Amino acid sequence: MNRADVSSVFVVAIDGPAGAGKSTIGRALAARLGLEYLDTGAMYRSVTVAAMRGNVDITDSEAVAALARRIEIHVGSDGVRVDGIDVTEAIRTPEVNALVSTVAANASVRAEMVQRQRAWARDRGGGVLEGRDIGSVVFPDARLKVFLTASADERAQRRALESGGDVQEIADSIRSRDRKDSERAVAPLAEADGAIVVDTTGRPVEDVLEELLGLLGVNP
Ligand code: C5P
Repeated sequence: MNRADVSSVFVVAIDGPAGAGKSTIGRALAARLGLEYLDTGAMYRSVTVAAMRGNVDITDSEAVAALARRIEIHVGSDGVRVDGIDVTEAIRTPEVNALVSTVAANASVRAEMVQRQRAWARDRGGGVLEGRDIGSVVFPDARLKVFLTASADERAQRRALESGGDVQEIADSIRSRDRKDSERAVAPLAEADGAIVVDTTGRPVEDVLEELLGLLGVNP
């Protein structure tokens, strides 16, 4: 499917660095709009877990790409599954955090995931998709493109609260992942053309949500 086929569906694209609030805001916005929500990071994480479990060398781009094309990935409100096996928790470990950016830098893996993400939205007539390249690559014609951000301190603190981990370690891990995601050759993390930058530092979810609904012309 090419871009023209998907330009008519109602898509909200939410991109930004780790811990900016994309999942929380994306889920809440989708619920308000009566749309489904797709966490595309969970797809790259699923490929990473499948490679780890299948003893596929993460730096062997051909092998990882073949694996990405072969596996069935389910990402939904009922959890994340790879070939029917529940990986909802397995995709959130520090090991996966450390390896996922390498998998996500693989151009062939990205091509496969982008195709699946477009098909997901086409099948539903739209949706709220969250990731790093949704507004720049997957849906450049999205109805609304948001680049969510927050201060590095707050992003690390949010993740630490969620996982119970050490703030300093989490801050280091986020910094390293954001750097790899921003510096990669294919679809780097960047503000898409026409994206609205929304800084969520110190702001309640409801406040950000109202801003996005306002941008869509929907009464909160
Ligand atoms: O969103 P999350 O932090 O779970 O994403 C995990 C990783 O997946 C990111 O650090 C990035 O390397 C990759 N990713 C991506 N493109 C997307 C979504 C995630 O490259 N659209």
